[in-house]
Amino acid sequence: MRLTHSFAIACLSLTIAAMPGCRRAPPDGIALVGATLVDGSGGPPLPDAAIVVRRGRIESVGTRAGFKLPPRTRQVNVPGRWIIPGLIDAHAHVEPWALPRYLAWGVTTVRDLHGQIDSILHLRREVNLGAVRGPRIYSAGAMIDGLPTTYPDALGANTPHDARKAVDRLVNAGADLIKVYTRVDPTLLQAVLDEARTFNMRVTGHLGLVDAVTASREGINSIEHLSGIPEACLADASSLNAAHYRGFFAGWTAFERSWAGLDSAALERVAKALAHQGTMLVPTLVLHETFSRLDDPAVLQDTMLRAVPELQQRRWNVPDMVRRAGWTDEDYLAFRAARPRQDEFLRLFAAAGGRFATGTDASNQLLIPGYSEHRELELLVAAGFSPRDALLAATRNGALILGVDSLGLIAPGKAADLVVLTRDPLADIRNTLSIDQVMVRGLLLRADSIRKAW
Ligand SMILES: [Zn+2]
Repeated sequence: MRLTHSFAIACLSLTIAAMPGCRRAPPDGIALVGATLVDGSGGPPLPDAAIVVRRGRIESVGTRAGFKLPPRTRQVNVPGRWIIPGLIDAHAHVEPWALPRYLAWGVTTVRDLHGQIDSILHLRREVNLGAVRGPRIYSAGAMIDGLPTTYPDALGANTPHDARKAVDRLVNAGADLIKVYTRVDPTLLQAVLDEARTFNMRVTGHLGLVDAVTASREGINSIEHLSGIPEACLADASSLNAAHYRGFFAGWTAFERSWAGLDSAALERVAKALAHQGTMLVPTLVLHETFSRLDDPAVLQDTMLRAVPELQQRRWNVPDMVRRAGWTDEDYLAFRAARPRQDEFLRLFAAAGGRFATGTDASNQLLIPGYSEHRELELLVAAGFSPRDALLAATRNGALILGVDSLGLIAPGKAADLVVLTRDPLADIRNTLSIDQVMVRGLLLRADSIRKAW
């Protein structure tokens, strides 16, 4: 009798523990209730939203009217707030110190475009396993460059055979995409694209010796920094090519200086050609803008730089970079004159149906991981795009460029990466900085507590 009784109790407790919705079971979901949702589709915002998230995924999206809290779900009220998808930085060079900065500034995915291959792929694994907290990392591993390579940790290629081997090596190492650099010529690029196609790998380029239209026609998926565009506009790009052969800074300087003199009809022709091929762009306006103002002490003394560890700032060594680049006052004037033409090009590209994604080039000199993404958004709006379109560049288009359909959108089944803002980002794009909370993989974090911990 006693035995039967205890058995019954044990059964009952087991049943209760196994029952979904049992009050004793800990919550495994979060409902964010009362905010205005800007879901990343480009459609109108949804006021008074109720978003349920469970086990790293969005479970449901609706409105508060008629909302019933599902079992095992903790309700978090966020009235008067705005919710946007987690931001994507589509041009990053990720280092461990940058991870909490990305999260605190609402960047939940980064597209890493070159680093020390073992370190970056190890870091990606650590983040995926949850051993280290950070944004999702998609990485190109090490870039492929012509010989001699611009950076010592790039994979150098002299022949099409070398180029194919470099792609194979990156595929075997587990890279998510392939990046080619300025010293890759048309023959090498063809081999890279052909080999990458075998593995269904996307290829992006910081172009130098190949112009943007040629790269686009050959099937490159995306182009970084608006590179290769002046080369495609000019009837004779031989002086730019010669500069790219001389070295990285010579090439960059000549490229940047050429923008102001480009013909508008040529810009339009190139914009249409790239848009019609479906080649995506990551313009990194924040990089062009920052490097065009290195003669302004305010840029070097920006208080935001306090977010960057001192050791890193010493490694940046901006005066040394300027010395190596040999930039003069005249160069800075030309770089600043390039900016309106780059904006004009981006407008022509978008008008032709082209798509672009936000990218920053952090953590290169003066480009603060996470924060620079908001500067890029602001520069896109200054270039003539609406806050809505700028946000789409940082969410939907970032996912498109990665070829990942679970990101960039807040909808059932998508990854639970989102940002809770205190002010309306569609009213003023600078309001994307008013970050209250950040959710990555379904984990809700307070921005100020991430900041306190770095
Ligand atoms: Zn870069």
